[in-house]
Amino acid sequence: MAGKVFISGSLLDKEQAVVSVYDHGLLYGDGVFEGIRVYGGKVFLHEEHIQRLYESALAIRLEIPMTQAEMIKAVEETVAANGIADGYVRLVVTRGAGTLGLDIRRTSDPQVIIIADTITLYPPELYENGLELVTASTIRNHPSALNPRIKSLNYLNNILAKIEGTDQGKMEALMLNHKGEVAECTGDNIFIVKDGVLKTPPPDAGILEGITRNAVIRLADEGGITVRQAALVRHDVYIADECFLTGTAAEVIPVVAVDGRKIGDGKPGPTTKRLLELFRKLTRDE
Ligand code: PMP
Repeated sequence: MAGKVFISGSLLDKEQAVVSVYDHGLLYGDGVFEGIRVYGGKVFLHEEHIQRLYESALAIRLEIPMTQAEMIKAVEETVAANGIADGYVRLVVTRGAGTLGLDIRRTSDPQVIIIADTITLYPPELYENGLELVTASTIRNHPSALNPRIKSLNYLNNILAKIEGTDQGKMEALMLNHKGEVAECTGDNIFIVKDGVLKTPPPDAGILEGITRNAVIRLADEGGITVRQAALVRHDVYIADECFLTGTAAEVIPVVAVDGRKIGDGKPGPTTKRLLELFRKLTRDE
C-alpha cells in the first residue's frame, strides 16, 4: 500500500528513499523516532507526538531541520500521499551522515524520514481474551545511562527483553527498573487495577511516557476512575484485580497472566473493558 516516503524534504517512491551507510542513525542508533496512529484520516494526538519527538531530539542534542509546524504538515502530506485512512506513521530523525566515530560535530544533514503504512501488532482475539506476559531478566535502561523518556533509535534494551518473552512464547515482556520496580513492557506501558483504583508507574520509574498512557489517564479521570501514578513492584501486579497495556500500536490490551500467574480471575476485567471501549470511542470520534 504505502508507496511514498517523505525523506528530507521530498516524497519519494519507497525504493528511492534511502540513507547513507555513514548515517549515524544506522552506525550508532543516533537518532529519535515516533510511532503515530491515523484514525479516520486524522493523525491521532499529532501535536503530542511531535512535541515528544522534539523533546527526545533536544535531549540528545539533535537539531531537527524543520519547525514543529512544518513537521506536522509533512506528516499530513505523507499520510495523504499514501491514501492512509487507518494506519500508522513511523517518523524517524537520524543524526545524519558523518565520519566514522561518535563525534556529532562530524555529522551533517540530519535525515527526516516519514513512513505512512498500516500496522497490526496483536491479533484481534487477544483484545477479547487478553495477553500473557513474562518478566524479563533484562532491566530497563538506567535513567542515568540512557533515559527511557527519550524515544531514541537505540531499542536494543527493549529488543533483548522482547527476545526473552518470545523465547517463552509470550508476545510481550514486563521490564523492571534498576530499583526492581515495575517499569513498563518492551513497547507498551502497563496499568493495574486494584480495589477500583487504576495504577501505573510514574515517569521517574524509568519509562517512556506513553502518549496512549496519558490519553488513558485522561479518559479514566473523565470517567470518574481514580488514577494513581505510583511505584509498583511485581507483587502489586500479581495481586492486581486487572492489568492492561497501552501503546500507539497496541492501543489498550488486557493482560490476563504474568509469569504464569493468573491476574484476577484470568479474564479481562470490567475497568479494562470500559477503558478499552472509551479508547475505541475516542479514536473513532476524534
Ligand atoms: N514504552 C515503550 C518502550 C515504547 O516503545 C512505547 C511505544 N511503542 C510505549 C511505551 C507506548 O508509548 P505510546 O503510547 O506513546 O506509543
